[in-house]
Amino acid sequence: MDNYAGNDWVLLSGWAKANDFKLTWVREDEPFTLTNRFSTLLFKTDSQWAEINGVRIWLCKPITVVGRHVCVSSLDLNTSIDPILFPQTNEVHSTIQTICLDPGHGHQDTGGVFGGYMEKQYTLPLAEELAGQLEAAGFKVILTRTNDTFVELEDRPALANRQKADLFISLHFNIGPPGEAKGVEVYCLTPPKASSTNVSRWGHIGEISEWGNDTALVPGNRFDNWNVLLAYDLQKSLVKTLSANDRGVRRARFAVLRTAAMPAVLIEGGFLSDSVEQKKIADPKYRAELAAAIVQGIQSYERAFENHQPKEDEYESTQHKKMGA
Ligand SMILES: [Zn+2]
Repeated sequence: MDNYAGNDWVLLSGWAKANDFKLTWVREDEPFTLTNRFSTLLFKTDSQWAEINGVRIWLCKPITVVGRHVCVSSLDLNTSIDPILFPQTNEVHSTIQTICLDPGHGHQDTGGVFGGYMEKQYTLPLAEELAGQLEAAGFKVILTRTNDTFVELEDRPALANRQKADLFISLHFNIGPPGEAKGVEVYCLTPPKASSTNVSRWGHIGEISEWGNDTALVPGNRFDNWNVLLAYDLQKSLVKTLSANDRGVRRARFAVLRTAAMPAVLIEGGFLSDSVEQKKIADPKYRAELAAAIVQGIQSYERAFENHQPKEDEYESTQHKKMGA
């Protein structure tokens, strides 16, 4: 037990007790639940698969049983579970005003291609639809490309940084084994010292530019707590609103996420290699529903974000009001 009682692993029973969760265990080889008034968590031993309030999350390390003790890695508690269940004090920005949308690929970089469908053809119209809906909801929107041009991966977050965007959202569609892979997934940056979620051999070249599973801290890691909450809120909205297959919140050190100076995610909004999803993605009506689900996800994130502003800011703004009055 010694190896598991140190800083790297936490007894799940102890964590559950400290946070008022009741642990229900049916059989050792089946998922078990932790419930309290607000949330339900589902875990499976020897698995990185987990669910938080019905939304799939891929943990960085599997839930591990030692003797009769179930352990969760402190890495996953600190970088996935706690930031989603208990949003931290927000030290990022005070409000969300400007959102940078990044339509994946462009020009010679087609993205995934399947049966004549090219990813780059659908990411731009989705971004345009989403931009319209976000502007109608009161946000300012900037786009990393507005036509079929090539933009280097690094230049995409760089534009968001220059324009001081408050969120960066990269939009993509997926390719996978036909008839098998379907549904939506949202990626956020892998925390330092963690492994990225398995990238399939079907992954297309454009965004699969991992630095490898090293321990490097990259600029985007400054926003880890908010990256994962944004990914969770978006995945939740996509899965519930579209009744899409839940492929979960995943981790990757994608080039577009590494240097973003604001919370950033990459959405894979369905599979061009799936005959049903392919037709939907090509349909403007479906893309409008997809965009609406993304807007709702951003709005739930915004509520959590703005409810957790630093107390000093509140104090200062009260003082400013008093002085300026
Ligand atoms: Zn892509």
